[in-house]
Amino acid sequence: MPAILSGHSENAPGRYYVTEECNGCGLCVTYSPDNFGWSPDGSYCVVSRQPMDTLELDTVWDAIQECPMRCIEDDGLPEDAA
Ligand code: SF4
Repeated sequence: MPAILSGHSENAPGRYYVTEECNGCGLCVTYSPDNFGWSPDGSYCVVSRQPMDTLELDTVWDAIQECPMRCIEDDGLPEDAA
């Protein structure tokens, strides 16, 4: 049975979020520093701000594709419905 994924509560509300499987490697912050940030204790990352334009969307997608834990999720809703 697959694990039930859930997002950290610190994620900025919206379409994209980081789940509790994050290992804190920091790659997402490297790829998309305007949209990802560290947790208060620095042990994992969260979506700090939802992407605001196509450039930020591209960097978020880079982070999704490079995340070693595959723990950046997209709920698939349009931005204005999130
Ligand atoms: S790239 Fe993935 S595993 Fe690494 S800190 Fe970001 S969300 Fe966590």
